[in-house]
Amino acid sequence: MSSETKPKSKKTKTGTPAPETRSFQAEVKQLLNLMIHSLYSNKEIFLRELISNASDACDKLRFASLTDKTLLEDDEALGIWITVGPEKKTIIIRDNGIGMDYDEVVQDIGTIARSGTRAFIEKMEAEKSSGDADFIGQFGVGFYSCFLVGKQVTLLTRKAGSPSKSGVMWSSDGTGEYTITSIDRPSRGTEIIINLKDDDSQYADEYRIRNIIEKYSDHVSIPILMPKEPEPADEESDDSEKPESKQEESEEWETVNKGSALWTRPKTEITEEEYNKFYSSLTYDSTPPALTIHNRVEGKMDYISLFFIPSSAPFDLWDREQRHGIKLYVRRIFISDDAKTLMPNYLRFVRGLVDCADLPLNVSREFLQQNRDIDKIRQAAVKRVLGELKKLSKSDEDAYSKLWKEFGKALKEGVVEDYENRQSIAELARFSTTRGDGESQTVSLDQYVDRMPMSQKHIYYLTADTHTAASSSPHLEIFKKKDIEVLLLSEPIDEWFVSHVSEFRDKTLKSIARGDLELDGLEDEESRKKTEEEQAAQDTLLEKFKGILGEAVKDVRFSNRLVDSPSCLIADEMDMGGNMERLLKAMGQNAPSAKPILELNPDHALVKRMDPEAGELEDWAKLLFDQALLAEGATLNNPGEFVKRVNRLLAS
Ligand code: ADP
Repeated sequence: MSSETKPKSKKTKTGTPAPETRSFQAEVKQLLNLMIHSLYSNKEIFLRELISNASDACDKLRFASLTDKTLLEDDEALGIWITVGPEKKTIIIRDNGIGMDYDEVVQDIGTIARSGTRAFIEKMEAEKSSGDADFIGQFGVGFYSCFLVGKQVTLLTRKAGSPSKSGVMWSSDGTGEYTITSIDRPSRGTEIIINLKDDDSQYADEYRIRNIIEKYSDHVSIPILMPKEPEPADEESDDSEKPESKQEESEEWETVNKGSALWTRPKTEITEEEYNKFYSSLTYDSTPPALTIHNRVEGKMDYISLFFIPSSAPFDLWDREQRHGIKLYVRRIFISDDAKTLMPNYLRFVRGLVDCADLPLNVSREFLQQNRDIDKIRQAAVKRVLGELKKLSKSDEDAYSKLWKEFGKALKEGVVEDYENRQSIAELARFSTTRGDGESQTVSLDQYVDRMPMSQKHIYYLTADTHTAASSSPHLEIFKKKDIEVLLLSEPIDEWFVSHVSEFRDKTLKSIARGDLELDGLEDEESRKKTEEEQAAQDTLLEKFKGILGEAVKDVRFSNRLVDSPSCLIADEMDMGGNMERLLKAMGQNAPSAKPILELNPDHALVKRMDPEAGELEDWAKLLFDQALLAEGATLNNPGEFVKRVNRLLAS
């Protein structure tokens, strides 16, 4: 995605660089257009977004300064200052955080659409009627929310540690273009000046601003400062003479956020509402979390963890470039939110933080990745989250079911990623089965085992490309007839799930489309005998089929698993199976091609009537093979040939 650029800026006669005008990238333009023309009721969230960016910038600087003190430039007290401009037409948000250099402004603010841009546009258009843009922060495009209220936005910034001449000024009315130019800027950090739309001048009211901060940003740990409120007005005094900007009046500031680290307070003293508010300030998700898990651990390591499991999946659950991880604090100071440090990938939907008392403040990324204490915290975090999920699954099946629907696919990855917890994850998994309610995944392995007959030794499953392909597969016929439950697995991850969870409560998981089928004494002797007898009688038929199908099959044999269908394909015991092979190929991997075994139903009228000496036997053999392929959800190599063959047989 390249940005449309005009020629690089030239120097003016005076030596200062001329502003460069650039266009926003198409998707960003679209997003801005939505912002500018939005009729959303809670535009106030722009302030939350800008404060959150400013606070992140301060956190980043504090972390970087642990290894390079000079970055602080004798200006150590980090903060966010908010002021209202003259005549209440502007609002200014300034921080002394890490700042940005020219290229970063172009990248992060200017031009480039990020992964969340499209997702955000879609959601915003879908929610038009609800009049709510509250979710913007979840998509990583929060900066643009300043155009909800601003008709012109100017950003001044300088990167910490760079000379003052490397400041940058960015300005735009959000329509199609922005200007950017290098400026001299002695103070470090970023300042955003929003020139308010006429209808939105209400936001330049200090009381309003304080209210908004209290509502959304109270927990921000960096001080948010505003000009000190004046002493209560003297009754005699004339209000109209008050200056518009208190900043001009005095340089006295006061902190307006509590900045209290909620997690450090005892559980019993925190209300559900406070937890929810904190969750929302952390995630910008206004729906309360499904689970809140707050613990204080004392022992060799002292730390506090506060985790939330959201009610629904974030838009980027399947994005490989995960942006969010569990935040790590050391004694209330933010250190990092590197994804995967404190939570494995399969639990990437868990949000929250860990505050550790015993780590040094100047920890590096490498340290975090290799540190044993961090490993221990991570292991405990996983156990805690899985434990709470298990508790919920026992206490409130419906609530658990909803969570499984949102996060089940990710959780199932855990059996591959997390050997140690494989069993707990298997217990948490829910499946659709031949006895279940259509496609919905509600049956646990425990339930399956509890209700299977004593003589059944295996947990039977069938994998397929779709639920429909699985539930109508010929492989199920004998199981339906004998009323044996089968798990119907149709998500790609399921193939990995069953290959990593080979046993559950001493029962092996067994594919009903692989190897020989022994129905654990559930099969009646009579039918077995009949099959063997017929096999002897029809050896010639099988031999002829093998001859005709040649390299396409490993073997042709009679089946004991078919009732209504004439044929099906089976993978040999140690082979991969058609579904897995197709999946790997779709992922661009080199899957070894194993030949299937064709099984024929000896009781099927078609097979019974088949004459090994008949001329059309070749057509029949190929037709039964292709039919079995189709029933598996595979595509035929030569569909044209298939159609011709069917027509030939119909005509005769
Ligand atoms: P997000 O903050 O979710 O990444 P935004 O659109 O709000 O998305 O901001 C985009 C990027 O711009 C940020 O990731 C950050 O790199 C940069 N940025 C925004 N505001 C500031 C700021 N006050 N100081 C430094 N960098 C900032």
